[in-house]
Amino acid sequence: MTNQVVSLIRSDRAETWQEILSDLITDPQELLRLLKLDAATSPYSLDALAQFPLKAPRPFVERIEKGNWHDPLLRQIWPSRFEETQAAGFVADPLHEEEFNPVPGLLHKYQGRVLLTAAPHCAIHCRYCFRRHFDYRANSPSRAQWEEAFAYIANDSSIEEVILSGGDPLAISDSQFHWLLQQLANIEALTTVRIHTRLPIVIPQRISNELVRCLSETRLRLVMVVHCNHRQELDSAVTNGFGILGDIGVTMLNQAVLLKDVNDSAETLIDLNKALFQHNVLPYYLHMPDQVAGTEHFYVTDQHAIELIKTLHASLPGYLVPRLVRENPGERGKTRIA
Ligand SMILES: *Cc1c(COP(=O)(O)O)cnc(C)c1O
Ligand code: SF4
Repeated sequence: MTNQVVSLIRSDRAETWQEILSDLITDPQELLRLLKLDAATSPYSLDALAQFPLKAPRPFVERIEKGNWHDPLLRQIWPSRFEETQAAGFVADPLHEEEFNPVPGLLHKYQGRVLLTAAPHCAIHCRYCFRRHFDYRANSPSRAQWEEAFAYIANDSSIEEVILSGGDPLAISDSQFHWLLQQLANIEALTTVRIHTRLPIVIPQRISNELVRCLSETRLRLVMVVHCNHRQELDSAVTNGFGILGDIGVTMLNQAVLLKDVNDSAETLIDLNKALFQHNVLPYYLHMPDQVAGTEHFYVTDQHAIELIKTLHASLPGYLVPRLVRENPGERGKTRIA
């Protein structure tokens, strides 16, 4: 049977998100076959693969245009030879996050809110990711460490919001997620839980009935910041998921990363933010890429980024213009550019 036939049979029955997550594409040869691409025209890097393996969920790959090396979704997952470039200023831990790590899995950098690394892994490996050199194993909390994190939060009544991050916080099971949300709801001073996740984009099936139930039952105010970089990442399964989350009262925001040859044109960004808004999601951040080793080919200059934001302001209502930010090592908040 050809791969095409197999994939037709696959899509015939509804797969669960867990099944999709346990059947990610990790072999570049398979990705090339599915996308009808020839490795000879754009060889991949074994070094890049060894450092940060290829990982892509099938529902995401289905949105990539076949035969197109310039596809903006493909560019985000392809372990290209450009990753071997060693550029001055591009380092493994550009944010010095280790300094703000009081207990494992918890980052307290910002006033009033802490970030919890809820899952040690992601459903996709985005090549530009600033966490690509992060030691997740050391930051994947055990239950005992979770207790330590909850105690830290409960001890500081100035903390009102917990940001669940990762990895991808929705990569943990429904029952773990439910438990986590219940524990957080028990901390009196907490009002809000924010979930930073790419899963509703890359595996829309992740918006399972179990997840929807536990999100709709909590006393906590919920914010979900999805991570969508290009309109082509939105298909009807993804936007249906946004609709369900909106219906149960989750505030939906988007955080994109500004990436060269993915979304660094005004047209692409306007298109993305308009499309997101039609599906209940407001833009939040547009992040400058961090200067992480191996990601120079995604880098966009400040000058170009500022020009883009000016064009967005001229073309869109204010509420559809994301805040252009970067993280500067040692600073408490994100720095706004422009
Ligand atoms: C972005 C971020 C936050 C949240 O910052 P907001 O300004 O509230 O969006 C918190 N912790 C870390 C580590 C972050 O990167
Ligand atoms: S989903 Fe987010 S944290 Fe995970 S690899 Fe992609 S950018 Fe990095």
